Amino acid sequence: MNRIKYYFKAFLLVELLQGLAVTWRHLWAPKITIQYPDERTPQSPRFRGLHALRRYPSGEERCIGCKLCEAVCPAMAIVIETAQRDDGTRRTTRYDIDLTKCIFCGFCEEACPVDAIVETRIFDYHGEKRGDLYYTKDMLLAVGDKYAAQIAQDKAADAKYR
Ligand code: SF4
Ligand code: SF4
Repeated sequence: MNRIKYYFKAFLLVELLQGLAVTWRHLWAPKITIQYPDERTPQSPRFRGLHALRRYPSGEERCIGCKLCEAVCPAMAIVIETAQRDDGTRRTTRYDIDLTKCIFCGFCEEACPVDAIVETRIFDYHGEKRGDLYYTKDMLLAVGDKYAAQIAQDKAADAKYR
């Protein structure tokens, strides 16, 4: 009986028609393919991408060299050295993040008392060699300067949940 059923289904191309029915159904469904990089998927303001060091509107760097981010980093990706300035304040003389070690956990951002180190929405960066992903203080400040408006907007959007 099963054999007859099998030949009957094969003769009428039932499985082929079932497959085509799926194709037909999805032909009219909304398309979800994103034409990256021209199109982007929505991102959360809490997205944890490339790091940045921020400044105050006056241009003064926020980081006070407390090293909390360095202490909390589970990957030991951050290296900080500090010195006292002539005005008595403490600032970093070195602030490096090795992005090949970083696991993008966001602990550094959470630990920072002055919102100096943040993770931006940038995820499509790359390096040609290992050293390219070793971000120095100047590089991190440059990212912060370039995306200052977006970072401030994301911080404001998230402020009421903190
Ligand atoms: S995101 Fe996590 S792993 Fe990366 S530097 Fe910050 S604390 Fe370290
Ligand atoms: S980035 Fe924040 S937590 Fe890290 S040393 Fe500077 S002030 Fe301290």
